[in-house]
Amino acid sequence: MMSEQRKAVAITGGASGIGLETARLLFERGYYPFLLDLRAEPLRQACSELGLPETNGIVCNVADEMNVEAAIMAAAGEGPLVGIVNCAGIAMDKPAVETSVEEFRRIIDVNLTGTFIVSRAAARHWLAHGSSGSIVNITSVSGLCGNKGRVAYGSSKGGQNLLTLVMANELGSQGIRVNAVAPGPIDTPMAQQVHTEQVRQQWNSRVPMRRYGTPREIASAVAFLLSDDASYVNGQILAVDGGFINAGLAA
Ligand code: NAD
Repeated sequence: MMSEQRKAVAITGGASGIGLETARLLFERGYYPFLLDLRAEPLRQACSELGLPETNGIVCNVADEMNVEAAIMAAAGEGPLVGIVNCAGIAMDKPAVETSVEEFRRIIDVNLTGTFIVSRAAARHWLAHGSSGSIVNITSVSGLCGNKGRVAYGSSKGGQNLLTLVMANELGSQGIRVNAVAPGPIDTPMAQQVHTEQVRQQWNSRVPMRRYGTPREIASAVAFLLSDDASYVNGQILAVDGGFINAGLAA
């Protein structure tokens, strides 16, 4: 297939975890993924694992406007660019009173401001070319309820959820859909780093399905929202969480 016929998608945080699995699934489904990530070596490995050219891995800090604009242009140059998945993120589990302002700002800068910078760049590109597009933001159930230890992370994720609603409202009339997937606990390098054994037990007992989700289970929801199967779905936050967010008294 010639590259200009491929439907390009840019996936931030694509070198690891949910982003990598989303890239794999979208590639299987005929998209042409570009992986945007801070880390060069994991990007190279990810492209090799997926069977993509190394140039599909773009070193990019989502919190840096210039970086992001260059990366979106590179992906769109192989276009048409049809979708964006905002998956880059960093986590922290710390009580509010122990969280420094620097830590709070760092989490907001990557997770929330980064999502804004990438989504705005893509939307501007589509508006300038009169084309449609679809954005899926990976947020979190921690952006929908007051999970302990998530004063910075949960605030960034709650902000991403709200950003999703505003951009869906403003851009829907121009053929740009914006939705979010809010994962529960998912087995990825991030969860392995942040979740202690005690935290894992807590999640396993509180999630009605009594287990962590897999990156593939998130990627499937992303693929649906990104695709034309979801052509009238706009401004939705889909929790993919084994029933966590809507559970009341524990069964
Ligand atoms: P991960 O650590 O495996 O992957 C995150 C990727 O983002 C890494 O490759 C990292 O290098 C990249 N990244 C970090 N900062 C970046 C920056 N400034 N610019 C570009 N790339 C950057 O984590 P994951 O678990 O796959 O998480 C992916 C997304 O899913 C995150 O937004 C996370 O908040 C969200 N999420 C994860 C879980 C979970 O339990 N794993 C639950 C809910 C939400």
